[in-house]
Amino acid sequence: MVQICALASGSNGNCYYIGNEEEAILVDIGISNAQLIKRLNEADLSLSKIKALFVTHEHTDHIKGMRVVTNKHNIKAYATEKTWEQSRMDFRSTRVNTFTPGDTISVGSIKIHSFSKKHDAIDPVSFRVEIDGISVAVLTDLGVANEEITEHLKLCDAAFLESNYEPQILETGRYPVFLKRRVASDTGHLSNNQAFELVKSLNGSPLKTIFLSHISKDNNDLEIAMETFKSLQEKICIELTSRETISRVVEI
Ligand SMILES: [Zn+2]
Ligand SMILES: [Zn+2]
Repeated sequence: MVQICALASGSNGNCYYIGNEEEAILVDIGISNAQLIKRLNEADLSLSKIKALFVTHEHTDHIKGMRVVTNKHNIKAYATEKTWEQSRMDFRSTRVNTFTPGDTISVGSIKIHSFSKKHDAIDPVSFRVEIDGISVAVLTDLGVANEEITEHLKLCDAAFLESNYEPQILETGRYPVFLKRRVASDTGHLSNNQAFELVKSLNGSPLKTIFLSHISKDNNDLEIAMETFKSLQEKICIELTSRETISRVVEI
């Protein structure tokens, strides 16, 4: 049985758990060690199973807890060389393993496929995690869905998929113009409709669960986001994620 959960998702912290009975990995650690422990407890998930941490890019909401968590719990951290440099962490005290986008990394029986994405970071990547014959992707912080994203998502049983903003709310909201442009640009974030169109374009995929992820507090509305995906809900279970609390733990 594979268990997946968004321990935190949004612009003030991201952390996604994927594991089976024996082992697990985290994708991103944008929450503190204390928050990680608290949220794992709430989700009834075990810290001791977590063998590795995979970092998508250097923005604070994805790496904030990296040094403390990896050192305290002896968890290996993986990031690309450039992301590592850009994160300006104290590397000597952090267990670091670097990879090149496109690499597949094995952690015990778990395979982690990495691939490049478009986002305003130095070397941003996404991951598809293969575990017990199940594939789960973490696809957040995307300006646009490139071909690789689509190809990997096609293979997935479940995905954490960014549904960051609703254009109308972003447009009329309180963000300064330069930030509005950044969010909506090809190196910013995916809108509700962009995420929906991406899923709709997949033909014959095994996708059964989507966690709408990295949902903006200021530029989105949960009801509108859910409504956007309504026509897919007969075939796919649509789950919400939150910055404040853990998502549902889905078992596959
Ligand atoms: Zn982010
Ligand atoms: Zn980012």
